[in-house]
Amino acid sequence: MDDKDRKLGSYRTKRNFAQTSEPEGHEKSQNRLYVVQKHAASTLHWDLRLEHGGVLLSWAVPKEPTMKLGLKRLAIHVEDHPIEYAKFEGDIPKGNYGAGHVEIWDRGSWKPEGDVDAAMEEGKLEFQVAGERLHGQFVLVRMDRDEKKDNWLLIKKDDESSDAAPK
Ligand code: MN
Repeated sequence: MDDKDRKLGSYRTKRNFAQTSEPEGHEKSQNRLYVVQKHAASTLHWDLRLEHGGVLLSWAVPKEPTMKLGLKRLAIHVEDHPIEYAKFEGDIPKGNYGAGHVEIWDRGSWKPEGDVDAAMEEGKLEFQVAGERLHGQFVLVRMDRDEKKDNWLLIKKDDESSDAAPK
C-alpha cells in the first residue's frame, strides 16, 4: 500500500465500484490540477479539488464559488479523491454515495504559496488558481474542526483579477 492508497482509504470505503462509474484511483501524476465539479447530490454543491501528493485535496462548497473580493464561501473539507476524478462527469446511481449528476464547472491548474502539507495542518492554504471561471489568488482558512466536521472558508483575495467587494 503506497501513500496514495492510504490517502484514498476513506474515498474507497464509501463507494461500490461495481455500481458507480467513479474512478477507483490508480493513476499517478505529479501535476497541479485544479477542478471544480458541480454536483447535484441530495444537496447541490460545488466540489473544489486541488492536486497534491498523488491525490486531489477536496472541499465541498454549498454555494457557487465566486470571484467577488472577500466574499466567504463555506468549504467543507472532505476525503481525498483520486487524480482521475478531475475528469469525472456523469451520474452516480441512486442508492450510492453522492448519488446525482456531476459536471465539470471549472478546471485548470493551481499553485500553492509555501508548503501544502504544513498549510493543511495549520489551516491556512494560500494559492493561485488558473481556471476559466476562477483565477487569481484565493485562500482557504480552517474555521472549525472536530471528529465529525472540518469546515473551512474559501475567500477570494485582493488582486487585479478580483471583482469589487460586495456591498
Ligand atoms: Mn460532491
